[in-house]
Amino acid sequence: MTTHALDEKASGHQFRGQAIRTLLILGASGDLTGRLLLPGLARLVRHGKAGSITLVGAGSDSWSQEDWQNRLATSFSAATATSGNHDDGGALSRVCSTSSYHQVDVTAEGELAELLAGLEGPVAIYFALPPAVSEKACATLKPEDLPEGSRLVMEKPFGTDEESARRLNSVLARLVPEDHIHRVDHFLGKATVLNILGLRFANRLLEPVWNSLHIDSVDIIFDEKLTLENRARYYDNAGALKDMIQSHLLQVMALIAMNAPSTLHERDLRDHIGSVLRASTVDPDYRRSTRRARYTEGTIEGRSVPNYVDEAGVDPARGTETLAEIVVSIQNERWAGVPFRLRSGKALGETRKEAVITFKPVNHLPDGFTGVDSPTRLRIGFGPDTLQLDIDVNGPGDVFCLDRITLQAELNASELLPYGEVLDGVLSGDPTLSVRGDTAEDCWRIVEPVLAAWRAGEVPMDEYAAGS
Ligand code: NDP
Repeated sequence: MTTHALDEKASGHQFRGQAIRTLLILGASGDLTGRLLLPGLARLVRHGKAGSITLVGAGSDSWSQEDWQNRLATSFSAATATSGNHDDGGALSRVCSTSSYHQVDVTAEGELAELLAGLEGPVAIYFALPPAVSEKACATLKPEDLPEGSRLVMEKPFGTDEESARRLNSVLARLVPEDHIHRVDHFLGKATVLNILGLRFANRLLEPVWNSLHIDSVDIIFDEKLTLENRARYYDNAGALKDMIQSHLLQVMALIAMNAPSTLHERDLRDHIGSVLRASTVDPDYRRSTRRARYTEGTIEGRSVPNYVDEAGVDPARGTETLAEIVVSIQNERWAGVPFRLRSGKALGETRKEAVITFKPVNHLPDGFTGVDSPTRLRIGFGPDTLQLDIDVNGPGDVFCLDRITLQAELNASELLPYGEVLDGVLSGDPTLSVRGDTAEDCWRIVEPVLAAWRAGEVPMDEYAAGS
């Protein structure tokens, strides 16, 4: 079955609920809304995947309708300029012209409820707010304030530790059912998820060797050239472990490690993801099982980058890491003894986003072969999604001599932007890509002991030059 066919099968299985009539963005004047959410929405509308929703923005700024229209025009034009020549029949202009902005303090008792009372339901409420503000806003709401069928979209980070994630989950559970809560991991696009599952479960060649008998180790890497990019207020309070590993790489790991679900229905899929994460821990010898570092002065593509601790808004006393690595053990029959190394770093010389599956050597290599016998490696690249298989073959020239070749393929790409995929899931009532509540708590449970050991100074903070 092709990945495309899997995709269609998945959508056929979804419970859709009532169609969303209004998309309400809280934090409409913020960075996320302008730079990522609105462009994602524009692409979705252009592809005819947004139905006939009404867009409503709200924020604490006293913006005029003209300010809001200007923001829409800027964000929408940036997205549509790169989306090719789609005739959307005027859909995007309609979303723009019917959109309104409302000044609301979402933490003030009754203000958000009053705004909701005037909107056509069901409403998707996108909390593009600082996490503490989102939590307070939810606490002001009562179930009867929400039109039936409404959905809540929560940004990352979801809570600041296991306890706060549990608290936030219980606030949300009072308001809507779990499958109407979307905890966003915008790196986990639908095409990427299905690409991994299609590759793993539609090929007899892979599934029988996908275990500790044949696999030596798995590396999941998300290295980027981007530096702090003026986001110290958020990033210096988070760091690489919370920002990327806790919220995203553990999800990728679960997709690589999970057993085959019976169907691609969100419940089957998320049950299997949850089961992997429940079995996952980090060895308490944290000096061996974890690594942290931060960048110092350097150059990336000719641009000079200052020392992280000298960047505006950074407080060196927080000891925030810009590179984190943890080795996760999955305590189950399939994976006992196989290290899953998860690493993410900023300001590196090379962008590298991939999962590398390293196989064990063959039991016996016939005497007589020369050259380098390297392990077989399968690489699944993310954004763009690719597949590479590194294997040994003979030659060239000397047929006794082993040599390395790479077989490559490009996997299915999405026509939507990452936040378009997030909104597609929300508006079509498909929570498959959303992080389920129990899983969000488990991801904190896995990393919390590491964070405590780092705070206690058990693991030294290494340094690396930006661009290295
Ligand atoms: P910003 O600080 O840029 O924006 C926050 C928005 O919330 C502003 O519009 C602000 O309005 C509004 N706001 C704050 N308090 C209130 C209130 N009491 N009532 C109503 N509105 C309020 O943050 P970001 O856009 O960067 O981030 C938003 C969320 O998205 C965060 O959870 C973040 O972690 C997450 N995120 C952000 C990403 C990014 O690249 N920006 C990427 C991934 C996730 P005002 O300015 O008027 O106070």
